[in-house]
Amino acid sequence: MYRRVDLRSDTVTQPTPAMRAAMAQALVGDDGYGEDPSVNDLEARVAALLAKEAAVFVPSGVMANQMAVRVLTSPGDVIVAGANQHLVDFEMGASARNSSVQFALVEDATGQLDLDRVVEIIQSESHHRAHVGAVAVENTHMPSGGTPWPAGALEALAHAVERPVHLDGARLFNAVVATGASAASLAAPATTVMVCLSKGLGAPVGSLLAGPADLMARARVERKRLGGAMRQAGVLAAAGIVALETMVERLEHDHRRAHQLAELVAGAFPESGYDPASCRTNIVAFDHPDARTLVAELADVGVLGGTLSARRVRLVTHLDVDDEDLDYVATVLARRTR
Ligand SMILES: *Cc1c(COP(=O)(O)O)cnc(C)c1O
Repeated sequence: MYRRVDLRSDTVTQPTPAMRAAMAQALVGDDGYGEDPSVNDLEARVAALLAKEAAVFVPSGVMANQMAVRVLTSPGDVIVAGANQHLVDFEMGASARNSSVQFALVEDATGQLDLDRVVEIIQSESHHRAHVGAVAVENTHMPSGGTPWPAGALEALAHAVERPVHLDGARLFNAVVATGASAASLAAPATTVMVCLSKGLGAPVGSLLAGPADLMARARVERKRLGGAMRQAGVLAAAGIVALETMVERLEHDHRRAHQLAELVAGAFPESGYDPASCRTNIVAFDHPDARTLVAELADVGVLGGTLSARRVRLVTHLDVDDEDLDYVATVLARRTR
């Protein structure tokens, strides 16, 4: 029998016993009337943690991103974003469908957007070019391998662009743990910030969008329009509160295991040119000429991974991957090294 190690995503985690207990006991009300105490508690905690005026609880990170696009742009606007960001490449074209916006794409292989290039796009606005409504960034930046933005870089960008900045912080807490910066300081340069509870923090469902109170009031309207207003959602928020309280610091273990995995990958696939030092958080993303076949071969021996494209493999560590799992992956990859 093979072991089964699921490295497809940090979304595959099971809710912890503490989360399930909190869900069972949660105080709830109709959030459509603003009467769910657990949702209100979670929204207040996240707003405070990110030092924003307000936060809105939503079922998914995609919905939070889409609400941000709606409140920051007008139809026909351009959003400047990294070419491989979730908002651009992993949301089924939702920004075009929901908000009638288009993207001006900036190369983002390192995870950051080149400030000069972003400024150049904005300065090129003219009578025949669409207005740049917002700049969108991702921290940590998933496709580059979970890369945190360096200290100061986002401040510099936000200062230079003089436009609203939306921060996709699906894995902002991974950036917090990797850099030692507070969530509030990482969120400070952004107008709107989304964070996921259902990625590394292990909650079953939920994300939040945070920002200025007036924008968040409008975001609540967009949540309703998108069908994301919920009722006794406190059963979900209660798990989210446990996630925020107990699951942030332990991300360091995911990062440590990802570093180990990165070394294994670099050893097994030298032709990929993968630099294990590029792994800073919980994601190992590397190039391979036939990513799908490789992922299928690994799955045959119980190691589940994913592809970011036909030529890029992604392996993710999380709450439900332990040291014995890593040992097993090491055995599997060692067979390829010979
Ligand atoms: C997962 C993810 C999202 C979307 O979150 P869902 O809850 O899956 O909708 C957005 N951005 C990034 C960077 C993500 O990794």
